[in-house]
Amino acid sequence: MGQPRWDDPENSAGGMIRAALWLVQEVGEGNTFTKNQLREAFPGVSQIDRRVRDLRSYGWVLYSSVEDASLLAEDQRLAKIGVHVWDAKARRAAAPQSTITAKERQAVLARDGYMCTLCGIAGGEPYPDDAALTAVLSISRRSATRTTGKLKDAFVTECKRCRSGRPDTPLSAEAAVAAAEGLDPSDLRRLVRWMERGRRGTTELDRAWAAFMRVPADMRAAVAASLRTHQVS
Ligand SMILES: [Zn+2]
Repeated sequence: MGQPRWDDPENSAGGMIRAALWLVQEVGEGNTFTKNQLREAFPGVSQIDRRVRDLRSYGWVLYSSVEDASLLAEDQRLAKIGVHVWDAKARRAAAPQSTITAKERQAVLARDGYMCTLCGIAGGEPYPDDAALTAVLSISRRSATRTTGKLKDAFVTECKRCRSGRPDTPLSAEAAVAAAEGLDPSDLRRLVRWMERGRRGTTELDRAWAAFMRVPADMRAAVAASLRTHQVS
């Protein structure tokens, strides 16, 4: 199916669709744009930045300076182009993704310990390999293979970076085996379980850390001080 031009005067599509086309045709994946550029492109459309935010429900990943400190306050980065919303069929097929209720969302986050099920980062935590980037968690719908071999849709907590599929340097199978060889038997059992499930589980230590990350920043020193007195010396 052909992709309409974002500025085609014949195009009667809504703001979200035209904004998606503008992002694809004028910005491009991986590049940044400013709110002013967006508003200048759509002078008559009210709340065009909200229409851009709506794209997140369709798998589009956009970073602001809040999450990526390398961006200026006015900048946003189009990290990943999601569902081709200008294609009505694709848009309709993807629409159920946005039907998770706030209550369900909270339940999924709590079940996953407020951590990304792919890389294990807690919400609000800076990435160990990229301190400029702070983790933002969201809920994705994923097809998971059950032990019965049946494919089932499930909601899982994932961080934006994992969702955007930022490619890391690929590792060899040997390197992955070598990395696990030094684990003690209980960690190794846990790792194998995670591999079977296709997603990371959480440990008590992870849950304790994620709980700490949810404490307001100005109260964290008190938590640390209290736990220091619990430490066995
Ligand atoms: Zn992640």
